[in-house]
Amino acid sequence: MGFRARLVGADGRGPVTVLTFAALSPFRFDAGQYVALVHPDGDVPMSIASGPGRLPFFELHYRPVAGAPDAERMDALLAAAGLERGAGGALGVLEFTGPLGAVTARAVPTLLLAAGTGAAQATGFLEWLRERQAPPSTTLWWSVSSPASLYQDAYFADLSRSDWFDYRAFVDRPSGENMLLPALRGAPLADEVVLSGPAGFVRAAARALTARGVARGRLRSDMLPVA
Ligand SMILES: Cc1cc2nc3c(=O)[nH]c(=O)nc-3n(C[C@H](O)[C@H](O)[C@H](O)COP(=O)(O)OP(=O)(O)OC[C@H]3O[C@@H](n4cnc5c(N)ncnc54)[C@H](O)[C@@H]3O)c2cc1C
Repeated sequence: MGFRARLVGADGRGPVTVLTFAALSPFRFDAGQYVALVHPDGDVPMSIASGPGRLPFFELHYRPVAGAPDAERMDALLAAAGLERGAGGALGVLEFTGPLGAVTARAVPTLLLAAGTGAAQATGFLEWLRERQAPPSTTLWWSVSSPASLYQDAYFADLSRSDWFDYRAFVDRPSGENMLLPALRGAPLADEVVLSGPAGFVRAAARALTARGVARGRLRSDMLPVA
C-alpha cells in the first residue's frame, strides 16, 4: 500500500498545478482511484489524473484551497520536494499510500459530473476510456467557480471531437450560483453516474438526481457514500 515516487514535473495551469511523478517502487492502480501523500499531521488525498497505461509516471492536479489544512500539508510536502526552487533543479521523493478508492472506470455508458479539481478523476477515467477499442458513450459535465478555473477545458474540448464523448462546461454566476445543478433536470442519464469534486457539490448533485428518480445504486462517488 505504501510506495515512493519522485516529483519529475510541475506545470502551472491557471489556479491548478499539474504534478507529474515517477513511481520508484512497484505501484498499480485502476483508472479513477486516488492516492494519499503521507504527512505526519495527516495524509493528503489526491485523485490520480492519468491512466495506468502511463505508469511508472502518474499525474496529480493540485489546487490549493486557502486556509485548508490539506493545502498547508501539500504545500509543505511540495516545498520539501524542492518545488519552490523552480524548474531545472532536481526534485525530491515523496511517500504515498495507495491506491485508494472504489470508484474506477468501467466500459459502460457513464455520465461524469465533476466540479473544480474533480476534473482530475474525470481525466483519469478518460485516459483509460480513450485507450479502449470501442469506448462506451461517455458524457462529462464540469462545473467551475470562474472562467479561470477551466484548466482542463482544452483537453476535454479536444477529446469531444471523438464520437463517443460529449462535454459541457458550466461556470458559476458571479453571485456564486451554480449553473450545473439546475441543468441536471435535463441531463442525459447513462447506466452509471460518477460524481467528483467538493463534497457539497457531490451531495447536491446526488439529491437532484435521486429527486429525478435515478436509483442511488447508479450513483458512484469516493467523496460520499452516495450509493
Ligand atoms: C478522495 C479525494 C480526492 C481529492 N482529490 C483532489 C485533487 O485531485 N486535487 C485537489 O486539488 N484536491 C483534491 N481533493 C481535495 C478537495 O476535494 C478539493 O480541494 C475540493 O474539491 C475543492 O475543489 P475546488 O477548489 O476545485 O472547488 P471550487 O472551485 O470551490 O468549486 C467547484 C465547483 O463546485 C461547486 N460547489 C462547491 N461547493 C458546493 C456546494 N456546497 N454545493 C453545490 N455546489 C458546490 C461550485 O459551485 C463550483 O462550480 C480531494 C479530496 C478527496 C477526499
